[in-house]
Amino acid sequence: MMNGNAAEEKEPFRPMDAEQLRKYGHKMVDFIADYYKSIEQFPVLSQVQPGYLKDHLPNAAPDQPEEFQDVLDDITKKIIPGVTHWQSPNFFGYFSASGSIAGFLGEMLCSGLNTIGFNWITFPASTELEITVLDWLAKLLNLPEKFLSSGHGGGIIQGTASEALVIVLLAARDKILGRIGRNSMDKLVVYSSDQVHSFLKKSCQIVGIHSRNFRVLQTDASSSYGIDPRNLDQAIHDDMEAGLIPFFLCATVGTTSSAAVDPLVEIGQIAEEYGMWFHVDAAYAGNACICPEYRHYLDGVEYADSFGMNPYKWLLTNFNGSCLWVKDQRDLVNSLGTNPEYLANKISRENKFVDFKDMEIPLGRRFRSLKLWMVFRLYGAENLKEHIRNHIKLARQFEELVRSDNRFEIVCPTLFSLVCFRLLPRNEDDGGYELNSELLDAVNSTGKLFFTHTIISGKYIFRFSIGATLTEERHIRESWKVIQNQATIISRKFTLQSKN
Ligand SMILES: *Cc1c(COP(=O)(O)O)cnc(C)c1O
Repeated sequence: MMNGNAAEEKEPFRPMDAEQLRKYGHKMVDFIADYYKSIEQFPVLSQVQPGYLKDHLPNAAPDQPEEFQDVLDDITKKIIPGVTHWQSPNFFGYFSASGSIAGFLGEMLCSGLNTIGFNWITFPASTELEITVLDWLAKLLNLPEKFLSSGHGGGIIQGTASEALVIVLLAARDKILGRIGRNSMDKLVVYSSDQVHSFLKKSCQIVGIHSRNFRVLQTDASSSYGIDPRNLDQAIHDDMEAGLIPFFLCATVGTTSSAAVDPLVEIGQIAEEYGMWFHVDAAYAGNACICPEYRHYLDGVEYADSFGMNPYKWLLTNFNGSCLWVKDQRDLVNSLGTNPEYLANKISRENKFVDFKDMEIPLGRRFRSLKLWMVFRLYGAENLKEHIRNHIKLARQFEELVRSDNRFEIVCPTLFSLVCFRLLPRNEDDGGYELNSELLDAVNSTGKLFFTHTIISGKYIFRFSIGATLTEERHIRESWKVIQNQATIISRKFTLQSKN
């Protein structure tokens, strides 16, 4: 069946035969290892055009089995060109997807066991390892006791930070409506800064918060793009005067645009004063807080009802998996719990363990704690901290390179491994949009590196985000040279244009 050598016997159709698994599994691991060995040869940003794949593939699935080697060859020829290489050491876009061998092996075993552990009985080890591993991580982050599994609190691995946000918003909504009555739905108000992840708006839509009740607090350079507590307090006052009910505050540690940090202590106290649910989204920067010297960015998390971070972004844990801790899991279960008879069993009736299905949107769930456990065990907390520190050091080095060229400016302080900078425009008519967006496209189309942008305070700004596992100092230096060279070309072009 799956062999390139025509002389060899066709293999029988046995889709889960252990010896075939061994044979092709080894070949696939070799294929992946070769991919990593040659990863720097590919353009980081895929250079294909939209629709490229259609012409390369038949328009219907094959009737008969094809050779494994033929499929691998097609992956090399047809799929790899359409890959944007997130694992490339020259990938600096968005926030990275932090991969590692331990993370990969954990995913492999998860896929190998192929279980669906939605409650304890369907996979006891999955439920229990998840509880343990999230306690480990909570302790590494020095989270308050209330987030540990010993009381009513605890952690759960969601698919992504977005899912986590929907869930806590839903739980917060149902909790307050349970107190004040469901007909108050239209009065509920959500607060965040204008730097919050765009998914909060979508979450509001999903859980039925009226769009006019989503308060986006403006931030600026004077508060380093964090929420000004006085603005929050004022907005809450105004809303209450208008008969509305403030119920949810989302803070961010490490915003997506510029890795800004909201002042958790001050705004957490305000949330407490008004009895609001306080969620802290630290999807990216939360990872850095395993290092004691960065932990202060989480000061104030003791006011939080829920806290989330994504080890897949920076902690060597392959995508996906977003860790969410809540101080009282019963709030999630009250909103998301279901008890159909066909899932009932002795253990769930005894209520010894919370069934994770009752704290998430999907029913079926993967064994995601496994890869996190493998990362902790195979690398140890000390190496994980070093990994974070090294990336932050590289970011500081990159920042120095940018500062040494007076055509550029650093726009925001580099708190973690994200450097925000731009090429200075001749005037600010368009916030540097045209000049910088052209430079970004020019650099990215070289294929030598990939980075992205944002807009803050009307200015077009580059985001150079360090987090790929393979990135070393030489990649930073070489990438900077490419940016400088392209800047020279683009600036010359713009100067000529303005003279004509
Ligand atoms: C990346 C990020 C998100 C979105 O994460 P997903 O896991 O992709 O949903 C949300 N908030 C912050 C602060 C992020 O950095």
